[in-house]
Amino acid sequence: MPAGTRVCRSARLRLVARAVEVVGTRSTRESGGYPEAIGGLGDPVRLCRFDEERLGVVDGGVIRDVTPALDVLPSVSYPLPEHDLLIANLTPLMARVRSLVDSAPRVSLKSVKLLSPVANPGKLVAAPVNYQKHLEEVRTDQALHHNTAGHTITIQSAGLFLKATSSLVGAGEGIALRKLDRRTDHEVELAVVIGKTARNVSKESALSYVAGYAIGLDVTIRGSEDRSFRKSPDTYSVLGPWLVTADEIPNPGNLDLQIEVRGELRQKSNTRYLILGVPELIELASSFYTLHPGDVIFTGTPEGVSPIEPGDAIVASIDRIGVMNVAVRAAEDASAMAAVVSAFGSV
Ligand code: MN
Repeated sequence: MPAGTRVCRSARLRLVARAVEVVGTRSTRESGGYPEAIGGLGDPVRLCRFDEERLGVVDGGVIRDVTPALDVLPSVSYPLPEHDLLIANLTPLMARVRSLVDSAPRVSLKSVKLLSPVANPGKLVAAPVNYQKHLEEVRTDQALHHNTAGHTITIQSAGLFLKATSSLVGAGEGIALRKLDRRTDHEVELAVVIGKTARNVSKESALSYVAGYAIGLDVTIRGSEDRSFRKSPDTYSVLGPWLVTADEIPNPGNLDLQIEVRGELRQKSNTRYLILGVPELIELASSFYTLHPGDVIFTGTPEGVSPIEPGDAIVASIDRIGVMNVAVRAAEDASAMAAVVSAFGSV
C-alpha cells in the first residue's frame, strides 16, 4: 500500500520534527528566535569578522578568535548561491563556535580592523524617510530635498530602494569620501540581517526571519539624483561593528540610537519612532522580492542628518548592539572623481 505508507511516513516525520522542536534550547523555545543563542558566553552574543577573514566572538574589549568554525561552511562552485554562506549556515556555525570559544585565542578588540559582519549580502535594501521628524526636516530644508519631489514623499509612496553591494564596508575600513564638492551626510540606522529565505512574509511572523542586527551607516551625497546612485559609492554603506544575534533583541522596536561626529551629538532617537517598523519592512520588502540569508535592510534614519568631512571621527551606537567607531577620509583619487562631475555639469 504505497499511498498508506506515504501517509504513515509523513505523519512520523511530523512527529519527529515536533519532538526536535520541543527539545530545542530554552532561548529558542521562549522567543521563537533564530538562530539559537550561544550558551555560556553572556549576553549579548556578538559575532564579528576582522583582519584577514578572521571570525570572532566579541566579549567586552576582547575578541575570541573562532576562525576554525568557518570549516563548517559548505564549499561552493560556480554559479555561486544568492545568499551569504555564513548567515545561511549560522546555526551549525554557532554550534561549532560554542565548542571552540572557551579555548579560543584572545586578541584585543582595539588592535583589529573590523570588517562587515556580512561578507556577501545578495542585496542591501533601504528605507527612505522612515522617521516622521526626518521627513519634516527634509521637506523644510532645500539642501536636503533639492526641489526633487521624490525626496519628500512618504515611505508609503516611495517604497524601498537598493544600495550597491560594492558600497559595503566594516567599521574598521572607514568611509572614503569621493565627491568633496558635494554635501555628504551621515545617516545612522538600525540594520537588520535576514537569516532565512523570506517571500511574502506577514509582519506577524517577520521577526522569525531575522538572523541578527547591526548598526548601519547609510552615507548619502545630497542632490537631485536617484537615491541608489547617491548612496552607493564604495564605502558608503557601513555595517557593524558586529552582528548581534536576533535572540538578544526580541523587540527591535524600542532601541535608542545615536551618532556623534567630532564629539558632537548629531542624531539621537529611538526605533519606536520608525514609521514602518522592522516587521512591516520585512513584510513590504518580501512582497516585492525574495529576501535571502545575508540580505541587509537599512531601516531608515531619524532627524539630525548633517555633513561629514575628511578627518571626522564618527561614533554611532544602538542599544543592545554596541558602539561603532568609523573614521572618515578623502578617497585617494577624490579630486579626479569630483572633476568628472564637473565635466558632466549637474549629473
Ligand atoms: Mn537612509
